[in-house]
Amino acid sequence: MNKKKTTVEVKRECGAKNSASPENPEQVIEMIALNSAVNKIKHKILVLSGKGGVGKSTVAANMAVALSLKGKKVGLMDIDVHGPSIPKLLGLEGRPIRQTPDGLQPIVYNDNLKVISIGFMLKNEKDAVIWRAPLKHSLIKQFLTDMEWGELDYLIVDCPPGTGDEPLSIIQLLGSVDGGVIVTTPQDVSLTDVRKSITFCHQVNIPVLGLIENMSGFICPNCGERHDIFKSGGGERLASEMRVAFLGRIPLEPRLVASGDDGKPYLEFSKDSPTAMAFNLVLEPIIALAKDKKEG
Ligand code: ADP
Repeated sequence: MNKKKTTVEVKRECGAKNSASPENPEQVIEMIALNSAVNKIKHKILVLSGKGGVGKSTVAANMAVALSLKGKKVGLMDIDVHGPSIPKLLGLEGRPIRQTPDGLQPIVYNDNLKVISIGFMLKNEKDAVIWRAPLKHSLIKQFLTDMEWGELDYLIVDCPPGTGDEPLSIIQLLGSVDGGVIVTTPQDVSLTDVRKSITFCHQVNIPVLGLIENMSGFICPNCGERHDIFKSGGGERLASEMRVAFLGRIPLEPRLVASGDDGKPYLEFSKDSPTAMAFNLVLEPIIALAKDKKEG
């Protein structure tokens, strides 16, 4: 059985100092800034996946847009340092980050949704980013403390695939997280990696809000028949085996690819499609977080 890591072990692994006991005035100031930033966020959600290409960023982007369209104040933070795709998915590529007297301004998607990603800082999208853990940690800290987010109902964090330094850093910096949403595809090779993501959440003591099976079945637009290209139901079986909630299935939808390529989030531009309905179902527990606290 896996031994649970202590908070200190988690902090040591992600290259951070123990923020509970600052050693000098500079650290005290940093800690106050961090606490003040974190206290302005009501709900913190990590979107995780065992491996890349399963639709994690697509889910994170659409989740953020859907919540913002419901009137929630949302921050979307892309901490995938090596493959930031949120700027493209939201049609925000090339937008400059502005410095104002109040701080650095995240990129505005709409009145309710602000976005930050290392992608906004790279001059060229092909620029390679070779960073060690402590540097990634300080970038993520800056994303929290130097950005002027304002009060947020939700912070959605799009993590890189796997269980590396970035999710450890954000968990340590946020202190407490409402939970992780894990995205997978139905086939076995992907599900093996998902077990690791669930175990990771258990080890760092964050609740698993649930598992989403993405690219689950293709409904032929011509004959209406369903084809399970990557099998089906694997995510649900795994969720039940590992005793985590199954949030639902999102079908393989060619228009989702086009919407990502065009930077027009699917849930904003194809609101009434069956895929959008499937998407909205998987978002219900996230929206319920606010209702549970009588905010929504
Ligand atoms: P990840 O963040 O897991 O690497 P992305 O969100 O970048 O994955 O998605 C990878 C590719 O798969 C993108 O081209 C995206 O448009 C596409 N995609 C995601 N979900 C679906 C879906 N349900 N149907 C069809 N294509 C999808």
